Amino acid sequence: MNTSTKSYLGLEKLEVFSIRHWTKRTFSFQCKRPKNLRFRSGEFVMIGLENGDKPLLRAYSIASPSWDEILEFYSIKVSDGPLTSRLQNLTKGDSIFLKPKSVGTLVLDALIPSQRLILFSTGTGIAPFLSVIRDPETYEKFDQVILTHTCRYKDELEYGKKVYEKTNNDNLLSEIINGKLKLISTTTREDTQLMGRMTEWLQNGKFKINTGKDLNLESDRVMICGSLNMLQDHKNICLQKGMIEGSNSNPGHFVIEKAFVD
Ligand SMILES: Cc1cc2nc3c(=O)[nH]c(=O)nc-3n(C[C@H](O)[C@H](O)[C@H](O)COP(=O)(O)OP(=O)(O)OC[C@H]3O[C@@H](n4cnc5c(N)ncnc54)[C@H](O)[C@@H]3O)c2cc1C
Repeated sequence: MNTSTKSYLGLEKLEVFSIRHWTKRTFSFQCKRPKNLRFRSGEFVMIGLENGDKPLLRAYSIASPSWDEILEFYSIKVSDGPLTSRLQNLTKGDSIFLKPKSVGTLVLDALIPSQRLILFSTGTGIAPFLSVIRDPETYEKFDQVILTHTCRYKDELEYGKKVYEKTNNDNLLSEIINGKLKLISTTTREDTQLMGRMTEWLQNGKFKINTGKDLNLESDRVMICGSLNMLQDHKNICLQKGMIEGSNSNPGHFVIEKAFVD
C-alpha cells in the first residue's frame, strides 16, 4: 500500500505510524499531523487511499485534540466497504491521503455556554468526542463533562475506555480536567454492569441516577454522534426539553452529526 507520490491531486500524504485493532469491526490509527491542517476539536476531514485518477475519500472525525501533533482516527471495518475493506489492512509505514480542510458542527463554538456538557455517542460516533474531551477549552467552558458511549458488545467500548484512562492519567490534562470528566459506557446486547441505550436511560430515570441530574435546558448542552436513528431519537428528546439545535453561525443548546451515512 506504500506509495512514492509526494502529493496526490492536492491531497496531503500522511505516513501511518501506529495501528491498533480493537475488535473484529474496529481499529484506530495514528499519523503525523501535517503543518497546514488546522482544526477545531470535534471536526472531521476527508481521508482515504490512492485509487487511480480519483482518490477514494471518506469523511472521518479526528479523534485527537486540536493541539496534538498526532492525528488519530477510529475506524469501522466494513467488509465490502470500498474504503475500509482496504484501510483495515494498513500497516506501519503505509500512507493515507488527507484533504487538509476540516469541518463539522460538534464544536464548542456551536453551543451557548452553560454548566454541563453531555456527549452522547454510539459506535465509532465516539471519535469526535475523544477529541473534545482532550481539549482544555472544554473545561474552561464547562464545569462538568459527561461522555456516554453505547455499543452492542463490551469489547466495542474498549477504545473509548483506554483514551479516557490515558486522558485522566496525563499529568497536564488531569490537572485541567480536575475531576470534571465522567465516562458512561453501556452495552445493548452483551450483559454488562451498565446496559441500555441513553434514550432509554433518559426516559427511565437511569440517566439522572448516574449523572446526578436529569437532562435539562438550564444547565445542559448536548452533542450527539451516532447512526441516523440514534440522532433522531436524541434530537427529539432535546427538542422536548425546549432545546434549540445549534450551528457554527448560530450557537444553540444541542448539536448533532452523523457518524456515518446509512
Ligand atoms: C461526518 C462523518 C464522519 C465520519 N466519521 C467516521 C469515523 O470517525 N470513523 C468511521 O469509521 N467512519 C466514519 N464515518 C463513515 C465513513 O465516512 C465511511 O462511511 C466508513 O469509513 C466506511 O467507508 P467504506 O467506503 O468502507 O464504506 P461505505 O460505502 O462508506 O459504507 C458502507 C456502509 O457501511 C456502514 N457504515 C459506514 N461507516 C460506518 C460506521 N462508522 N459505523 C457503522 N457502520 C458504518 C453504513 O451502513 C454504510 O452504508 C463518518 C461519516 C460522516 C458522514
